[in-house]
Amino acid sequence: MAEVQMGDAETFAFQAEINQLLSLIINTFYSNKEIFLRELISNSSDALDKIRFESLTDKSKLDGQPELFIRIIPDKVNKTLTIIDSGIGMTKADLVNNLGTIARSGTKEFMEALQAGADVSMIGQFGVGFYSAYLVAEKVIVTTKHNDDEQYIWESQAGGSFTVTRDSGEQLGRGTKITLYLKEDQLEYLEERRIKDLVKKHSEFISYPISLWVEKTTEKEVSDDEEEETKKEEGDVEDVDEEKETESKKKKKVKEVSYDWELTNKQKPIWLRKPEEITKEEYASFYKSLTNDWEDHLSVKHFSVEGQLEFKAILFVPKRAPFDLFDTRKKMNNIKLYVRRVFIMDNCEELMPEYLGFVKGVVDSDDLPLNISREMLQQNKILKVIRKNLVKKCMEMFAEIAENKEDYSKFYEAFSKNLKLGIHEDSQNRTKLADLLRYHSTKSGDDTTSLKDYVTRMKEGQKDIFYITGESKKAVENSPFLERLKKKGYEVLYMVDAIDEYAVGQLKEYDGKKLVSATKEGLKLEDETEEEKKKKEEKNKSFENLCKTVKDILGDKVEKVVVSDRIVDSPCCLVTGEYGWTANMERIMKAQALRDNSMGSYMSSKKTMEINPDNGIMEELRKRAEVDKNDKSIKDLVLLLFETALLNSGFSLDDPNTFATRIHRMLKLGLSIDEEETVGDETDMPALEEDNEESKMEEVD
Ligand code: ADP
Repeated sequence: MAEVQMGDAETFAFQAEINQLLSLIINTFYSNKEIFLRELISNSSDALDKIRFESLTDKSKLDGQPELFIRIIPDKVNKTLTIIDSGIGMTKADLVNNLGTIARSGTKEFMEALQAGADVSMIGQFGVGFYSAYLVAEKVIVTTKHNDDEQYIWESQAGGSFTVTRDSGEQLGRGTKITLYLKEDQLEYLEERRIKDLVKKHSEFISYPISLWVEKTTEKEVSDDEEEETKKEEGDVEDVDEEKETESKKKKKVKEVSYDWELTNKQKPIWLRKPEEITKEEYASFYKSLTNDWEDHLSVKHFSVEGQLEFKAILFVPKRAPFDLFDTRKKMNNIKLYVRRVFIMDNCEELMPEYLGFVKGVVDSDDLPLNISREMLQQNKILKVIRKNLVKKCMEMFAEIAENKEDYSKFYEAFSKNLKLGIHEDSQNRTKLADLLRYHSTKSGDDTTSLKDYVTRMKEGQKDIFYITGESKKAVENSPFLERLKKKGYEVLYMVDAIDEYAVGQLKEYDGKKLVSATKEGLKLEDETEEEKKKKEEKNKSFENLCKTVKDILGDKVEKVVVSDRIVDSPCCLVTGEYGWTANMERIMKAQALRDNSMGSYMSSKKTMEINPDNGIMEELRKRAEVDKNDKSIKDLVLLLFETALLNSGFSLDDPNTFATRIHRMLKLGLSIDEEETVGDETDMPALEEDNEESKMEEVD
């Protein structure tokens, strides 16, 4: 931050990203410049909310300016448009920080969005709305007075810097005055009609009076005598033709120009009106003014609760997730709390669980005390009841959205993570949330299926709901774990969102049916005939020795080695304990560099190798192990099988180099390249040091 002392004015450099943003706003053509007014009015409204809230506990905060208002003054002579509010104002430090030296997290995101073709009207969502002033102004002057500081003037023509000066001129009392020196081609914003239309369009639901300084022309009939009088008084006497005078006698009209404030918004809160009398457009317009969104809402729920407790609320679901939905630095909550029409606070955390942070709206309670503080809110019983009701209404609203397939797929794409978080956190609503889940499955094709629909398709005798977790649909749909399930006609859900692991871990069952992972131990398929069972037992017996040999070779790498029930084509796979992490979870946890290592080793997958007795490779290995279980080729093959199984069971390799070297060796064998010739560069590979019996490996190929 460069700071130059220039007499009274201090000059500051804009922070680099803000500077970039300003250039972009000034130098790019946007057709939708009118939104600047909405942004500035919305800032004023926020500032008024803040001082009103402070005044609830300390009335004297309003002393500087008791009235709460927003005023707009167009000045055609000086080509300026001024917006004044009696909000909280800014201290000198606020001015320097908020308007230029500290970039918001959204600054960069907004520029990226703009460059990707987003509309400039999205600016408010990114928390940099103030700068939209430069869409229409070449110079902006902000005069502001906060209760805790003197009055200051901020001024900038963009161009890299701004100045801040102490202002001892005309005092505001409290609040902020923003004067825009309009560009020559933006003078339309001085027209009364244009401003009124804009306020109606974008700021109709602002709950403070917005007054416009308007010119009023009244025609007044004056008698000539009167006129004569005034003329005489002004010393402007002429000789007047007698005849003319009689002609126009007593018919002179004079235009009188006066100025006055005219109220431009209604301010009756929309939530007090009857839902059936409110149009979709009005809801959309209210939604936009509430949220700064540039698109309509996806869904709305307007209701009142009466009885022991009374409140009114409007809840909205947006069409998209905000850019910072899962920004952990920021607690998302978008419910504005009012008490008997008086705004109390934004983002009332106690009103919505975190996972519903994307739902926006207002709640107006009749029962809470007006001077409630954030601290009091935490233990407030009334608030808990309101919250419960809001959550219930959200569930209803989501279920309603689900009735329209197109809307629901939008909703699900944007907020499925929230629903899954809800499953994890909100045990009371888990069942309702589970109904909202959608998954691709082995039978869903391009569509997705709900758990409810899955249940209707369950095979006779099928007790469990099967699922597989993994990194992507592609990664799981050909997984060896699904071979037998598919062959037998069981449907398997693809859970390929990282959060699915957490959600399904909590959900455990749906509609009385257990959710069973295809990659974990304990997968039991019911429809085995006696004959099948007998055959299996025999197989198991004949593979007992191989299982033991493989376990000896793999040592601690696996918990145990058993004959598999779930694979059909692949030679083997690695399953995890029913209560431990799946391969997918291990991947997620590694990606998060899980803080506590002890937890890692405790939870990390205890792998069981399952071998497929019907697979040729396994059969061959079995035969060799019968002959000589110390056969060295067996060891190399088992290691290779283990490593390949790690990969296609969804794990990652701890030592990919050794694996690659093993594969290369196999390739060389396949291509009949003499190992001796190239052995020089491979002698340091530990896992291969005992390998010299190539001939036997070739046989397996
Ligand atoms: P946002 O309003 O989304 O936070 P802006 O760029 O519009 O982002 O404004 C930046 C900050 O400047 C605001 O958060 C607020 O602290 C301050 N500010 C802007 N306008 C006003 C105003 N009229 N009164 C008081 N503070 C204001």
